[in-house]
Amino acid sequence: MPKAQLRVAIAGFQHETNTFIAEPTRLEHFEMADSWPGLLEGDAVIEGTKGMNLPIAGFAEAAMAHKSVTLAPILWCAAEPWGKVSDAAFDTIRRRIVSGLMGEPRPDGIYFDLHGAMVTQSFEDGEGALLQAIRDAIGDGIPIVVSLDMHANVTWKMVELADALTIYRTYPHLDMAQTGARAFTLLSQIMNGNRPAKAWRQGNYAIPLHAQHTGTEPVRGLYEAVSEQDHGQVSVDLALGFTASDIADMGPSVVAYAPDQRWADMLADNLANRLKAAESYFDALLLSPKDAVAQALALRSDKPVIIGDVQDNPGAGATSDTTGLLRELISQSAPSAVLGLMHDPHLANQAHAVGVGEGFEAAIGGTHAGDAPLTANVTVEALSDGQCVYTGAMYGGGVATMGLTALLRLSGTGTRIVVTSIRNQCLDQAQFRHLGVVLEEEAIICVKSTAHFRADFEGLASHILLTAAPGAFPCELEKIDYRYLRNGVRLGPIGPPMRAQ
Ligand SMILES: [Zn+2]
Repeated sequence: MPKAQLRVAIAGFQHETNTFIAEPTRLEHFEMADSWPGLLEGDAVIEGTKGMNLPIAGFAEAAMAHKSVTLAPILWCAAEPWGKVSDAAFDTIRRRIVSGLMGEPRPDGIYFDLHGAMVTQSFEDGEGALLQAIRDAIGDGIPIVVSLDMHANVTWKMVELADALTIYRTYPHLDMAQTGARAFTLLSQIMNGNRPAKAWRQGNYAIPLHAQHTGTEPVRGLYEAVSEQDHGQVSVDLALGFTASDIADMGPSVVAYAPDQRWADMLADNLANRLKAAESYFDALLLSPKDAVAQALALRSDKPVIIGDVQDNPGAGATSDTTGLLRELISQSAPSAVLGLMHDPHLANQAHAVGVGEGFEAAIGGTHAGDAPLTANVTVEALSDGQCVYTGAMYGGGVATMGLTALLRLSGTGTRIVVTSIRNQCLDQAQFRHLGVVLEEEAIICVKSTAHFRADFEGLASHILLTAAPGAFPCELEKIDYRYLRNGVRLGPIGPPMRAQ
């Protein structure tokens, strides 16, 4: 007999770890607000994420529509992608989640909003380690459903320890809240006594993120196939993986849930076979910064050309301050160009100290290994506190926290840069417009983003070009010095196979 009133504990702990960054992600990175809110506890988990395109917000909204469900929010946090999560941060957050679950009354079900590519100093499968700690504490009886980012590197351990996983199906991630709502449906079915059989398959080639855009084939077709399967007690999902986590399980994977094992295996095999068949259809070509700027100038029309600086995406752990593309804009005398978001707290502070209309000699960005600051005279055109309300489809309504921010012109050039004090991915027009930039009037808009920028910038652009300017999020997989991937997985579609050293 199902219980009349169900208590559901909810928590979130999101990190996408770039293991090529030596510096760890610390507790304070989870506590601070950036593109997303800072660490939230108790009822603030629901209040502080309400209406946002976040999985936990979608889950809570769906759950609260049911009078028979009482939510017990524990904690939610996320840090901007960066190096391995420090043991201290992981232990602290894990302990708080476990102790929240051990309170009385015990929950009837648990939902976790996780990313699925967290690597800690001690665990290459951070989510697996978290779920293990939770199962050790609460046992196997209480159902757990987890939502994951579509850049998750899904491991068997995650599949084994959770009753069901469900994964975003869009990149840019427009469906984060929707995925949370789907997790509620899955958890409800399981709390009602229908525990599904599960199947997991791994793909045998890694896919660079700039080729994972769900608006482009073959990825579009793969996700159409995912959505077509979704009905009743059947659920199928596909994660395409996060390539900057150098771990054995990096790469795409399929999960399937169905009333019996044969059915789950069949669904997983079908999708895994489609993934296999798609391999030769990916286009992962990137332009050099020189060619990207030259092409953008040649393509000029009444609409801007957008250049994605895909390897310096802070949303994938990069420093967001490399100068390769900026140097090309200057050397090719781009007539009107704007570039964002350059993370340089010192420079932003200097601009705030001198004020609008003033100029000074600046050393811009360049902290990434092999890069160097670009020295130039700049004029301050606008200043802000870096708080702006997102207006695009992905984060619309949420607030960006960029710290002291400035719009600077490189004197004597047509190029301007937006400089921030907190790393944020450039993915929403408001990040430029709140400083008075009229994006339609620019010939070239450069964004430090891999694909999320498409959600809000695609409509503005005559063309989108992607460049491999230097950055800490390498996208040409065959050039990456991987150490820990499983033997044989190919580095990119039709790429060379990994050979363990
Ligand atoms: Zn993602």
